Amino acid sequence: MLCPGCKKREAKVKLSCMPRALCPECFCRNIERRIRKQLRLDGGLSKHDTLVVVDDGSYEARVAKHVLEGLRKDFPFELKIVKRVTYTNLKGAKLVSLDNLEHTAVKLIKQVILPPEPNTATDTGFAPLSSVHPQEIALFVKFKRLGGEQKIRLDKVEQRILEGLNRLEAKYPQIKFSIVNFFRNLEKSK
Ligand SMILES: [Zn+2]
Repeated sequence: MLCPGCKKREAKVKLSCMPRALCPECFCRNIERRIRKQLRLDGGLSKHDTLVVVDDGSYEARVAKHVLEGLRKDFPFELKIVKRVTYTNLKGAKLVSLDNLEHTAVKLIKQVILPPEPNTATDTGFAPLSSVHPQEIALFVKFKRLGGEQKIRLDKVEQRILEGLNRLEAKYPQIKFSIVNFFRNLEKSK
């Protein structure tokens, strides 16, 4: 089958969370486009911004670093890649959240069940990977040869929620996208 994106190459990339198969090039372009779009939805960047990515060796950190470095070629802003968050490297800067779509869905559900935790001082609202499924992130890392590894970022309660969500996902492959979209639309209509 020909890729519906470019109509040139074979559409050999298909994940259960993806609505349609794509070729590897269009798949990667689609992921980058969605990450850039999420950055705009999260408030956008200005050239005076300094963004901080904590490279903890995770897939998410590698993808955020790769896409933001690419973005800097078109649009100048400061980008700091650090090993850990300290007061000095966060001063006057915005920390990039490494939450992917799955983390975001889990945390949104948790807020319904448990009273929300107060926002931490480092929460800047920038979560560019929050609309990208972890399966997509893992494949993007492979195609772009970014290295890194899968890391668990969820606490015990969040992991229980994820287990339930994964059972639902086996039946409804797009459910994590639907949940995040549902909460975001709800937030907008407030
Ligand atoms: Zn294509």
